[in-house]
Amino acid sequence: MLSNSLIELDRAHLVHPVASYRGHEKAGVRVLKSAKGATVTDASGKQLLDGFAGLWCVNAGYGQESIVEAATQQMRELPYATGYFSLGSEPAIRLAAELADRTPGDLNHVYFTLGGSDAVDSTIRFIRYYYHCKGTPQKDQFISVEQGYHGSSTVGAGLTALPLFHAGFGLPFDWQHKIPSHYAYRNPVGNDPATIIAASVAALRAKVEELGADRVAAFYVEPIQGSGGVIVPPDGWLKAMRDTCAELDILFIADEVITGFGRTGPLFACADDGVVPDMMTTAKGLTSGYVPMGAVFMSDKIYNTIADGAGAAAIGHGYTYSAHPVSAAVGLAVLKLYEGGLLENGRKMGARLMAGLESLRDHPLVGDVRGRGMLAAIEMVVDKDKKTPLPAAAEPAKRVFDRAWDNGLVIRAFANGILGYAPPLCCTESEIDAIVERTAKTLDQTM
Ligand code: PLP
Repeated sequence: MLSNSLIELDRAHLVHPVASYRGHEKAGVRVLKSAKGATVTDASGKQLLDGFAGLWCVNAGYGQESIVEAATQQMRELPYATGYFSLGSEPAIRLAAELADRTPGDLNHVYFTLGGSDAVDSTIRFIRYYYHCKGTPQKDQFISVEQGYHGSSTVGAGLTALPLFHAGFGLPFDWQHKIPSHYAYRNPVGNDPATIIAASVAALRAKVEELGADRVAAFYVEPIQGSGGVIVPPDGWLKAMRDTCAELDILFIADEVITGFGRTGPLFACADDGVVPDMMTTAKGLTSGYVPMGAVFMSDKIYNTIADGAGAAAIGHGYTYSAHPVSAAVGLAVLKLYEGGLLENGRKMGARLMAGLESLRDHPLVGDVRGRGMLAAIEMVVDKDKKTPLPAAAEPAKRVFDRAWDNGLVIRAFANGILGYAPPLCCTESEIDAIVERTAKTLDQTM
């Protein structure tokens, strides 16, 4: 059993991310003790299927010995090497090369970060530097998509379009702009794919015209919007937006922090749509959450423009822990697992998960089922015809989360009645079936 003192210590000292501090103090922490495969065990010994891979990150599943081995060996041999002073480490160089070999197009240059937020932040700095080198520093306006999430760093958070991440902070983001989401289930233009794509292209064009084409630096998208509620664009949407950016001469940045590393099937979701971005951000599945790491991928054009533009001057962007050798060693081990069968298993299990969740579509509370690969959502409504959202006051997300927990399932319960799924790619058929069964039970117990 979890000792009361641990709960008290947490209450008194540990500040949790994205939480109501007072609500959390009242509820008390749930401590996770151990995990193996897709199963996590809490401090009381209760075992649960982790239908969300931690925070959509433990793609390889828990307890993978080859990852533990790689980290241990690297810690023994060389636990740290800076990238400053032109120093480096073998795993970091090898990981950069292996990844560059697999990224779409000419995204051949990798800058490692500690996670997704600082990867997004880094792109903003690189883009500003790029335009400075090109002699067009006035291109300083950024556009992203409503319902999008791009982290919570001080600058990059502006690209995040979820009100929660802005309320109370009062930071000025007047150089960051949004266009409406493609959100087919709740789109004012209806749910016809061609109409949605045309509306998004028109919205981007209108926004660029409003700001002035010579002022707009870049457009940011998630191939599938994650934290906004797993919102999947119609086929062809990503490509249409990419092509529009090329035509308007603005950079196209794909934020693959969630969708990268097998979450939707291939190593990178852009590949699903045949899209080559100018820059791409990743994190999470890069190290499968075992240690922190993110990565920014830059095209030849961007890297060379910055490199030539700066000439002999140092480009003043860097972190102590960029390209950390232990994280890089983990990244290499994880990549081996993905290509040694995990991606393939993820694709099979993703199809099973989608079919399983689809089978719940007739449930009175299920308004929408959507997803791709091992990334899915159910949107709960109280009236299917009117698409009336589950009332947050009567049925708070925390209660739905707790109910699923009691049923032995960890899922993401979003505030707007959306249930999010991102299980580890190592799941077995029976684990996927159990995720679906436990979801059905949770739905039956809701409202
Ligand atoms: N970008 C996207 C698309 C994300 O989903 C996230 C996190 O969920 C981030 C950026 C921020 O990543 P991190 O939480 O590692 O800082």
